[in-house]
Amino acid sequence: MTLDDDGTPVRLRDALARVPAYKAGRPPAPRGDLTAYKMSSNENPYPPLPSVLDVVHEAATEMNRYPDMAVTDLTVRLAEALAVAPECIATGTGSVGVLGQIIAATCDPGDEVVHAWRSFEAYPIVVALAGAESVMVGLDEQHRHRLDAMHAAIGDRTKVVIVCTPNNPTGPGVTHTELQRFVERVPDHVLVVIDEAYVEFVTTQDAPDALALHRAHPNVVVLRTFSKAYGLAGLRIGYAVASSVVAEALRKTAVPFGVSTVAQRAAIASLDAFNELEVRIKDLVAERARVLAALREQGWPIPDSQANFVWFPLGAKALAFAAACSEAGLSVRPFDGDGVRVTIAETEANDRMIAVAARFRRDG
Ligand SMILES: *Cc1c(COP(=O)(O)O)cnc(C)c1O
Repeated sequence: MTLDDDGTPVRLRDALARVPAYKAGRPPAPRGDLTAYKMSSNENPYPPLPSVLDVVHEAATEMNRYPDMAVTDLTVRLAEALAVAPECIATGTGSVGVLGQIIAATCDPGDEVVHAWRSFEAYPIVVALAGAESVMVGLDEQHRHRLDAMHAAIGDRTKVVIVCTPNNPTGPGVTHTELQRFVERVPDHVLVVIDEAYVEFVTTQDAPDALALHRAHPNVVVLRTFSKAYGLAGLRIGYAVASSVVAEALRKTAVPFGVSTVAQRAAIASLDAFNELEVRIKDLVAERARVLAALREQGWPIPDSQANFVWFPLGAKALAFAAACSEAGLSVRPFDGDGVRVTIAETEANDRMIAVAARFRRDG
């Protein structure tokens, strides 16, 4: 029992005790004259596009009004772009918000959600909040999903399986061939959530066509966000493409008016400006290749990354490496005992990180 400030007994749900805390990427601590860089949250390092900022300024003049709860214009726009019916789209406050809507729509206490581990740290949080259980399936030696093992982990109480591709925080994605084989074997009543937060950065052969899998299998949900490639992390907007029945359930479990007018209009303006954003995405992908090559040259066993970050499988040295980066004015995201995720950021930040990695590899 917990007592509140007045000494009154407050009954919180038991499930809350099992909810892990989200450790957000920290802003960098200033170090003398060094420009500090944030490489800890997989954000887009580019500032907002002027055309998007203009729309945001204009939308802000309406902030005394509630937004369009149905997110109509953006939904129509996305439906056209993705060649799906508008009824198949559900939006939310970031794709983490949409994932919460998915779990709220599917899981009762004691139900199970299968996902890889290590993977996105929000998964066990949203699952535990619903009183459901995460069934975590370890990655393989290349830090990739083991889809066969994930299939084997599906049981009577499984409601959802999440495939994070590319996988945050390790970087590799699954192939279309293996994902298709997986989806074909998952029972029809289990939702397969394909989390494609980094899809715009994927350049491999045989990359997943998650939308095609959604069209062929009503239990497939594709999760996307405007936070990463589109650079709108601070506005909180993401969406799911799902069967109309599932999408309707996601609209029911959404926070009413959760997606602001500013976010809705900025998302549309970003779709309008995709050609400009694409140039930035290509530059980040080129930076990723340059960083990966430099680190491998130093001897680091960095897994292939299809996203906007790289993974250092440092084990017990994760915190020490993060501290070395911090000394150099770089905030990165350590996972104690496991590894460190570093976002591809400004060129100067990447260069400095490569230099820190070289020193750390030599001197420990
Ligand atoms: C960043 C990220 C998201 C998106 O988060 P938003 O809530 O849309 O900002 C979703 N999934 C993964 C795996 C991510 O890394």
